[in-house]
Amino acid sequence: MPPQFASQLGSMGPDAGSSSPSKQCQTPFDGQNEPTHGSTIKSWRLLLWHEIPKWQQDNEYIVSGYRLVSLHMIATTHTYTAAGQPPGLYGCPLRVYCISTIRLFNAYSHMLGAVVFMILPLYFYNRHFVEEAGAQVQYLLVISIYCLGVAVCFVFSATFHILCNHSCNYAHFCNRLDYLGILVLMWGAGVPTIFYGFFCDSKLRWTYWMTTTSTAVCCTYLTLAPDFASPRFRHWRASLYAGFGLSSIVFVLHGLLIYGWEVQKQRMSLISMGWMAVSNLVGAAIYATRIPERWLPRVFDTFGASHQVFHVAVMIAAWIHFQGLVEAFHLARGMTAGSFRT
Ligand SMILES: [Zn+2]
Repeated sequence: MPPQFASQLGSMGPDAGSSSPSKQCQTPFDGQNEPTHGSTIKSWRLLLWHEIPKWQQDNEYIVSGYRLVSLHMIATTHTYTAAGQPPGLYGCPLRVYCISTIRLFNAYSHMLGAVVFMILPLYFYNRHFVEEAGAQVQYLLVISIYCLGVAVCFVFSATFHILCNHSCNYAHFCNRLDYLGILVLMWGAGVPTIFYGFFCDSKLRWTYWMTTTSTAVCCTYLTLAPDFASPRFRHWRASLYAGFGLSSIVFVLHGLLIYGWEVQKQRMSLISMGWMAVSNLVGAAIYATRIPERWLPRVFDTFGASHQVFHVAVMIAAWIHFQGLVEAFHLARGMTAGSFRT
């Protein structure tokens, strides 16, 4: 995930909009729709906004289609209210199944993205790497790190979306995983960019690799600390993620100062990075403003909501950055063959 997300992600969760403190989990239910172990789940109904627990409430413009708190790993994908609940909003089981499946779009979309990015290193090897005579394994390694970073981010995001209705504690834990995934993606995106940006200067390359890695480790430690997700640390979170994002701007600017626009534009694929940033920023803006459901509540409850658009935008951005890295790889090979201006 690009640095452009950082400031926003620090002030609001990437998925669960409010990073509630663990205190909220002491009263996970509001007295209704509480499942009981062993109860027969047979009423076909999804829940309305006012029926879900406070810790689940994130976007008030999504009025319907919420899954019951499951307290069960497998049943999190179930969509039915417990036995004894009143007749449902949606009476047809098939319709309930279809709607709930679409509501898991955010999980499926990122699972699909994770699979694609796990396969991409193989694609890169067969389609690009073997075509360049004399290409060293480090070229393959840095792009693989990026792809696996994206895959990890998407897996954590999908995990959150699947388990966010398990229970309050699970929701908060998975929310922290979601933050962690973003850090992994940002770190993974920086590794190949630094590699190609300072291709001729191993000292600077290692300096920036160490800097960005140590910053990522600090951010990881703080992200996984339970108290860090509480509102009390909201500004610290914002500063931390913004700082990590801005640290990548530092090495981009440093490279521009040393080698100039024409060289770094190719080495760091700055045009692709720009389009990647645009895609991420558009997705983040749609996510933050909750458009279009803000304008037409209920219409986008099932499909087309801002969070779904945000996921698609992130996947497009990740793909654009991959394409940019492939271009940088070919240019770097040209550079080692003596046809690249340094
Ligand atoms: Zn999400």
